[in-house]
Amino acid sequence: MKSILDNRNELKHVVDNVAEVASYLWQKGWAERNGGNITVNITEQIDDAVRQLPAISSIYQIGTTLPHLRGCYFYCKGTNMRMRDLARWPMDNGSVIRILDDCASYVIIADKPVKPTSELPSHLAVHNYLLGKGSHYRASLHTHPIELVALTHNKLFMEKDVATHILWSMIPETKAFCPRGLGMVPYMLPSSVELADATIRTIDDDYDVVMWEKHGVFAVDSDIMSAFDQVDVLNKAALIYIAAKNMGFEPDGMTDAQMREISEVFGLPK
Ligand SMILES: [Zn+2]
Repeated sequence: MKSILDNRNELKHVVDNVAEVASYLWQKGWAERNGGNITVNITEQIDDAVRQLPAISSIYQIGTTLPHLRGCYFYCKGTNMRMRDLARWPMDNGSVIRILDDCASYVIIADKPVKPTSELPSHLAVHNYLLGKGSHYRASLHTHPIELVALTHNKLFMEKDVATHILWSMIPETKAFCPRGLGMVPYMLPSSVELADATIRTIDDDYDVVMWEKHGVFAVDSDIMSAFDQVDVLNKAALIYIAAKNMGFEPDGMTDAQMREISEVFGLPK
């Protein structure tokens, strides 16, 4: 069967990376059933021939108007689709959509009329925010990392930057590779406008990875592999913290002086 990815190496590379990340999410136990979502802004990989492609779906309303998304294209995981299936068949378990000129609706253009994730409005709102502030970030990831979610079941870790400082202090690479830390959003109904708004506010507060209390993370970065890496690094730090606690002691963590040294040597944001 013909695919939009045929003879489009750059676009295929983006989608292949989504499939690779989807396989990691499943292997890590972060993507039970249809859990998690991925959307990637692929507008820069789109050529004139794709712009001419007809819609293969009816017109769907986003439910809000997102002015920075006019004429943008996204690869989106399909609603009710499983990450473990997307890993093997990305164009059967996700699709490419075109945002229409009203910035409030979209059509599916390839490969199959797979309806995007029910979280699409919140993902698109984040992409609209990122484009609006001139960010080079193009990928957003929502997943359920076990140990990070477990942390949020204790109110102490929900306080601003408490978890960030514990996780950064577990192993030097955490701050180097997740320099903005972990933003916290208190529990809100999944898929709600309130949760999407709170997520954007927390990203705007200068976090790349946002924790949804008792639910999961929402991460943004330049590409999907980088977004995944940030979550992976943070969850690794959580595993080290838990391993130390399981050995019966409170881990010391790196000292403040050691953390400052990391920031200075690596030129990390304050
Ligand atoms: Zn979720």
